[in-house]
Amino acid sequence: MHSLTDSEPKTLVADVGAAMTGLMEELFPICRSITGAGLRESLRQVGEVIPLQMTEVASGTRVFDWVIPPEWNIRAAWLADPTGRRIVDFQESNLHVVNYSVPVRRTLTLEELRPHLHSLPDHPSWVPYRTSYYTEDWGFCMADRTLGSLLPGEYEAVIDSTLEAGGLSYGECVLPGRSSEEILVSCHICHPSLANDNLSGVAVATYLAQTLAGMDRRYTYRFLFAPGTIGAIAWLARNEKFTERIRGGLVLACVGDTGDIVYKRSRRGGSAVDRAAEHVLRTQEMPYEIVDFSPYGNDERQFCSPGYDRSERHHTSADDMSAINPDMLAGTLQFCLDVFEILEADDTFVSRNPKGEPQLSRRGLYRGFGGRAEQSQLEAALLWVMSFADGRHSLLDIATHAGLPFEAVHEAAQALEDAELVGRKDLRP
Ligand code: ZN
Repeated sequence: MHSLTDSEPKTLVADVGAAMTGLMEELFPICRSITGAGLRESLRQVGEVIPLQMTEVASGTRVFDWVIPPEWNIRAAWLADPTGRRIVDFQESNLHVVNYSVPVRRTLTLEELRPHLHSLPDHPSWVPYRTSYYTEDWGFCMADRTLGSLLPGEYEAVIDSTLEAGGLSYGECVLPGRSSEEILVSCHICHPSLANDNLSGVAVATYLAQTLAGMDRRYTYRFLFAPGTIGAIAWLARNEKFTERIRGGLVLACVGDTGDIVYKRSRRGGSAVDRAAEHVLRTQEMPYEIVDFSPYGNDERQFCSPGYDRSERHHTSADDMSAINPDMLAGTLQFCLDVFEILEADDTFVSRNPKGEPQLSRRGLYRGFGGRAEQSQLEAALLWVMSFADGRHSLLDIATHAGLPFEAVHEAAQALEDAELVGRKDLRP
């Protein structure tokens, strides 16, 4: 079994880029929402790749300040112009219907219809994604150039949807580790045919779980696939007693396009995950950006944990599969593995030789790494670890402080531990 701290996973992820795009292509056509059959079917498909425990929270259930809404399902919808021609049809794209539209079957004039039509004048060929989860409304979304060409007269609007008692679904994959302390990875799974926002997060989370499942783990990893906002709130409301076990978390969103990796810090900043993520980003080659927490975006609002920022084309038909890059998906998966590798290996050490510098060469430590290219880095790491093995600085603190790669500091600490010059402060189970 691989350990997360082996270097082997680096080759594992190269092949998963294609698998992740494959899953996204399967999920892309499904009309998802915060409840309903499309959400359930998407979770079922994720459950074919990794074991997923499903939870249904009944409509009407109170979750903190929110109430689970009626379940929304839709079979068909279209808008026909005065000549009977269908201007937009749900069958062509589920973005054409305002998500959570109440059922409608009526004839109305163009003027009566206008408040129900949405477009993006700045991007005349894109179709916007709109929702009306918590207000009774209905509408159609279309390209602005379609909207501009509508003839005056009587229109037929049909939305064959239902809003009935049902439930909100979410799925969890729990990978137990030696410790019951948990790392929570979450992604939202409520958007219909949009690729980067949210299917890229779903695909990376799915294959990250699959990769981690085959590895030896110190921490327990919990993957949550839930509708945005209310799904995360429903999970938190039902798992309040578990939340104290959570050591850190990552929210994955908009991770599949060719933009830079954007890492958004947690609300407090400086969490273990923040520090590990920043260390990984600073020591790798992909272009990146680190931004401070802001109370918009995805479920980092609910978990106060770091997530990724969103791309510019989000919530429009331009967020389709053509913008998705398998290498970026694989790069994000590798980034997450690298962050977890640090969390798994990070420990705090105490010197057993606190009086003066120990003689490293006598113990075969100096020059002990046998002519390796990183020799000087490892030797520097030995000195840094010995100096900071005070029970207050973790290996990650030391690596950050010294400007050395975490692996070098980790390897040095292991060599010093083997030589009984340092001991772990608290051997966590
Ligand atoms: Zn979104």
